[in-house]
Amino acid sequence: MGKIQELSERLANQIAAGEVVERPASVVKELVENAIDAHATQIDILIEEAGLKKIQVVDNGEGIAQDDVENAFKRHATSKIHNRDDLFRIRTLGFRGEALPSIASVSELTIETATSEESQGSYLHLKGGKIEENRPTALRVGTKITVENLFFNTPARLKYVKSLQTELANVGDIVNRMALSHPKVAFRLVHDGHKMLATSGNGDLKQAIAGIYGIVMAKKMLEITAQDLDFALKGYISLPEVTRASRNYLSIIINGRYIKNFALNKAIVNGYQSKLMVGRFPIAIIEIEMDPLLVDVNVHPTKQEVRLSKEKELMALISQTIADSLRQVNLIPDASESPSFKRKVETAKTEQLDLALEQPTGKNSGLTFNPETGRFYIDPREENETASVNGKKIIEPADRPPISIIEESLASSSTPEAESEMIREDSVTTEALEAPAELVADDEAEELHETMEHPEFDLSTLSGEREVEKAINKLTHEKPKERFPMLEYFGQMHGTYLFAQSKDGLYIVDQHAAQERIKYEYFREKIGDVSNDLQEMLVPFVLDYPSNDGIKLKEQKTLLEEVGIYLEEFGPNSFIVRAHPTWYPAGQEESIIREMIDMLLVTGSVSVKKFREATAIMMSCKRSIKANHHLNEAQARVLLTDLAKCENPFNCPHGRPVLIHFSNSDMEHLFKRIQDPH
Ligand code: ADP
Ligand code: MG
Repeated sequence: MGKIQELSERLANQIAAGEVVERPASVVKELVENAIDAHATQIDILIEEAGLKKIQVVDNGEGIAQDDVENAFKRHATSKIHNRDDLFRIRTLGFRGEALPSIASVSELTIETATSEESQGSYLHLKGGKIEENRPTALRVGTKITVENLFFNTPARLKYVKSLQTELANVGDIVNRMALSHPKVAFRLVHDGHKMLATSGNGDLKQAIAGIYGIVMAKKMLEITAQDLDFALKGYISLPEVTRASRNYLSIIINGRYIKNFALNKAIVNGYQSKLMVGRFPIAIIEIEMDPLLVDVNVHPTKQEVRLSKEKELMALISQTIADSLRQVNLIPDASESPSFKRKVETAKTEQLDLALEQPTGKNSGLTFNPETGRFYIDPREENETASVNGKKIIEPADRPPISIIEESLASSSTPEAESEMIREDSVTTEALEAPAELVADDEAEELHETMEHPEFDLSTLSGEREVEKAINKLTHEKPKERFPMLEYFGQMHGTYLFAQSKDGLYIVDQHAAQERIKYEYFREKIGDVSNDLQEMLVPFVLDYPSNDGIKLKEQKTLLEEVGIYLEEFGPNSFIVRAHPTWYPAGQEESIIREMIDMLLVTGSVSVKKFREATAIMMSCKRSIKANHHLNEAQARVLLTDLAKCENPFNCPHGRPVLIHFSNSDMEHLFKRIQDPH
């Protein structure tokens, strides 16, 4: 007898299950897709123990006729396509006839189903793919499939299943996407008796968005539509002020199917042009209708990857539509209407008052807060006057544009002596930097205009520049702090580099990188130092998250508490925050908390140490001086002094060099004052 034998159907199904049924979320996805294909308008998903114990999907769709029920569990048995032509015209979510037999082969599955044509329904029970019971039963029209003990007979697969929370978050995520793809269907997701999601199914995508991402978020979404010969596109995109730290909130739906496509995600982000900060992503739900001939869904068993014939054209249409829509709206949010903004204005005002009282000649002198722009500016009446700091005067140029407080506070904390003296570590007070950005009115408008221009943090870009590397190595092989040279500042170039000399040569400092480093060390320490100093907020705020994120946050609550953020559960996926660590810069409490939580969602479960580090980096980039910013002499000197105090003054938190060095002998070589021996 030959060696080659055909696999038994059950074994073949188990093998296929490896591809189709990776985890509980895949079962949910397949069952929900079947319900949608059966034209259900109400789909209830009930799961226990993240789906490993039980997944039940109940729909009010067409049901399966008695004669067909067993067929549905045969491999490659489908009612959805009949011939080759159909394969190129797929309008349904399923078509491979693989899901039911695959799921049944790795679980205990019960199906109860009835159609409107027959007086009786069917009850079928399978274990490991083998039919154990098949009997008629009385039922209303629709289908109820119950999958229990998933992977009971494939222990290897069970091993790959992650923590219950992770699996549950995956289920939540996939149901969210299905609900977004089908606003006409009312979805309900219940886990261990707790409702995780409910959408109304009234066909309004915006309402579905509100059901998933919260009402506040839905209000900040902009409707987009576009049409050309090949594609019809509609959906919602978030205003650039609402961003997330990952691409997870981009949902692309082609002909009703949620798909994953890197190029189209990129097209969405490109549409925002420079309106997004580096490393931030919008929220978007884009539905695309196209001729099924243009899209090949038969690429992967899970059907989430598709091949598009006119991908480039579609990318261009998406980017263009988004860019046009954003151009049409006034991107400066009506800040005066936002209660949080009003709060900020109030805080800013009181702060000014406080400062004025405590330090009549303090760092805020001469600055006025403009609630309309959310910025501080120098009152024109005082333009030509001198701002005085610590009793000393600093002359400000008469035609100074509105200035950022960071720089102002830098300037104000320096002493005039510093201008003539070589900077010593202890020669200049730096109180301003010890409370960095304290007065920056971080309103949303400002964020909108902020196109953070720090370059990609990619060490590889330096690899060619051997000179630079040599210089850094020279600096870093010795113990940082002790080796930091005493720098005498003498000039700035292009608002980007500071020049300084010391007895051993010339130093060029990247001012942006320097400030990132200073802030980073400051924030790292502050974030680590969680004393009981919490400040109650006047108005607590509510954070809404989609259910999958909500679960992660509940799981990671203690980690957040270790950095001083206390989330109080408020409804299934909402949290109230009532207090914040006292050191948070005024007016930025909410945005800091949001960003720290975002950071946590992106980095996943990491150690407190890593989390603090990541958050400190995030905050240091966000609040550092951008390139092309002129610093006055005093500001530049303070920056250098503070840099000298850093534990590692040589690299920015991303590893880029902060300064480069040309030694005296390098210079002499360059100018051929010293001849190389031949
Ligand atoms: P596919 O969806 O690719 O056709 P499946 O294995 O998922 O393959 O399902 C097999 C068949 O069972 C479907 O073609 C459909 O006829 C029927 N079916 C499955 N689930 C349902 C449901 N919830 N309601 C009605 N029919 C269903
Ligand atoms: Mg299917």
